[in-house]
Amino acid sequence: MSGAASSPPERGFPTIGPLTGLRGVGHARAARLERLGLKTVRDLLLLQPIRLVVWPVKTSIQAASRRKGERVTIEGRVRRSVLQRIGGKRSVVRATVSDGTGEMDLVFFNQPWMKEQLSSGTQVEAHGSVVEARGASIASPRLGTAASPLPAPGTLAPEYGGGDGVSSDALKAWIDEALERHVGEIEEHLPAEFLEHCDAPGLPVAVPMIHRPATIPDFEYARRRFALEPILTLQAAVFARRSGKAGRARAAKITAEQDAEIRSRYPFTLTDAQSRVIGEIRADLGRTRPMRRLLQGDVGAGKTAVAAYAAMTVAECGGQVAMMAPTEVLASQHAYGLRDLLEGHGLRTALITGSLRTGERRDVTQRLAAGEIDVVFGTHALFSEDVKFRRLDLAVIDEQHRFGVAQRGRLAGKGSDVHVLLMTATPIPRTLALTVYGDLEVSILDGSPPGRGSVRTRWARGDDRRRMPRFLAERLEAGEQIYWVVPRIGETMSDGDSEDAPASTAASAEARFENLVARPTFRQAGIELVHGRLPSVERNSRLDRFRRGDVATVVATTVVEVGVDVPNATIMVIEDAHRLGLAQLHQLRGRIGRGKKDSYCFLLGDKKAEERFRLMERSRDGFLLAEEDLRQRGMGDLLGLRQSGENQEGLVDPERDLDLLLAARDLFQREPGLLRYY
Ligand code: ADP
Ligand code: MG
Repeated sequence: MSGAASSPPERGFPTIGPLTGLRGVGHARAARLERLGLKTVRDLLLLQPIRLVVWPVKTSIQAASRRKGERVTIEGRVRRSVLQRIGGKRSVVRATVSDGTGEMDLVFFNQPWMKEQLSSGTQVEAHGSVVEARGASIASPRLGTAASPLPAPGTLAPEYGGGDGVSSDALKAWIDEALERHVGEIEEHLPAEFLEHCDAPGLPVAVPMIHRPATIPDFEYARRRFALEPILTLQAAVFARRSGKAGRARAAKITAEQDAEIRSRYPFTLTDAQSRVIGEIRADLGRTRPMRRLLQGDVGAGKTAVAAYAAMTVAECGGQVAMMAPTEVLASQHAYGLRDLLEGHGLRTALITGSLRTGERRDVTQRLAAGEIDVVFGTHALFSEDVKFRRLDLAVIDEQHRFGVAQRGRLAGKGSDVHVLLMTATPIPRTLALTVYGDLEVSILDGSPPGRGSVRTRWARGDDRRRMPRFLAERLEAGEQIYWVVPRIGETMSDGDSEDAPASTAASAEARFENLVARPTFRQAGIELVHGRLPSVERNSRLDRFRRGDVATVVATTVVEVGVDVPNATIMVIEDAHRLGLAQLHQLRGRIGRGKKDSYCFLLGDKKAEERFRLMERSRDGFLLAEEDLRQRGMGDLLGLRQSGENQEGLVDPERDLDLLLAARDLFQREPGLLRYY
């Protein structure tokens, strides 16, 4: 933990002091914030909002019920409220509100006390996304009362990506306090001409402006300054690598016999493509120049096996390995999936997630520091300060596009003495390759492992749609498994884009779950619900039940999009598929077709997305679909930077910020002295 302002500054700027100087931040909270990458007051002030919410004007209930998927604010009097228990701690409260133009239900999951709070006659304001759940409803709305009304229409409210038990509102409160007390202490280190050229304000202006924007253009102006930070960090890494100042890693050189021994560990024969890429990686690891390799391969191509080779090679030479995934679900899947292979090779593995108890976490970190663990799996929490390695030689980063430019920047800034293997299923557009990925070499893993069943995709409407339940029942009877995906729901963003509201996502998945549980075929074969708002322990244990085959169906939000590997799952139903881009649909579909049996993907959705659905029916070529996606939606989406993943970091959009990327590329050339900040 960094000390007060007088202690050595981090990366060359004054830290403005530790977070424990803020009210309500004790050591426990500070440790949580640190896991989110926030160590100092400066870090907090430089935290980027993940979105800007504009509070809408109130809508009549009649108009609101026609605006499914949109965020609305309504006002009315509660007519009645009903509590329904649906087993265990699960319950649903429906409060019916009327305003004279119509009625609408407010739906609350697992909050039985809402029945009393919204007793008949209560006057309320409610804000949230309109969903279809027994008529137009608002699920998990935010409520306002006469005593504490909702923010006025037009109010601009930045939201922050919390996580690990820290909410956006809590972050906002601490940022407010930091602004009150420390705003005068923020210094700018970039030259004024450069900022002018970038059309971005200096930090002393940008910091208060982004957290308390008066107008949307102000927010956007301030955001450009914030966007520069990760871009510059990344460019500094690209620059260092080009100029040969890349640092030195330990060479992990293995003999031909060791190489053959490692290859013989696999329960299958490596494909030619895997074998070729493994050769490239073996050569990289054998040098002291740190490996920076990007492995691109379509979903299901077998990237994990390649990563395991790199891990075994490094461990063979006495080094430790960190395997990082964007979500806890994926991290634990890697840990379980590779455990046999790695432990069979005599390696000691461990998994660090946010859900470990303090004692367990301490035990793992101590063993890591002592060198008693060879391979550790986790999310980006692996890079927090309390995680120390005895001898970290390799970092593997899976589904790296999900980490975004900001995290790429942070990573590039760390571990210049460590080999890094990045893996992605999303091809990188050439226009960006040089600026964002200029420090990387690229390997392509083409083809897929042999012995896979076919995958048929169908945009299911009319008769197809009607035949679907029967077909699903047959698959369930045959012992196969089903992913039922209910994606997210739109919300107004500062740039007029539609983004997803985690609250309503979870809610509509809940509604579908309720509906399927009521059907005997599904209930009897076992069914689980998984979404991003569940505590990760609970989410993992539900997914584990699905993975083990204890339950046949999982209803999920797009949390299953990346990497989940269940070969026995042969069916995927995607509801509201028109809300998803091609790249995302392709990623989702990559969850099926992993076993020998034939698989089926049903797209349910609006005709307006017909072009996309037809492409999905015709092609399973991820590169082709990604290119098409790029054409339809733009680069930001393709790189996953606008998706709201877990712990998403900020609003960097390479498409919008291409000029910043280009300006940053030249800056260090002209003023290498600035490199000391990054
Ligand atoms: P992705 O590239 O999407 O990360 P995975 O590494 O998860 O793909 O691999 C998908 C599945 O294919 C896994 O079940 C894995 O065990 C299997 N697999 C990988 N390589 C081979 C191979 N050479 N032969 C057979 N199965 C393989
Ligand atoms: Mg994978």
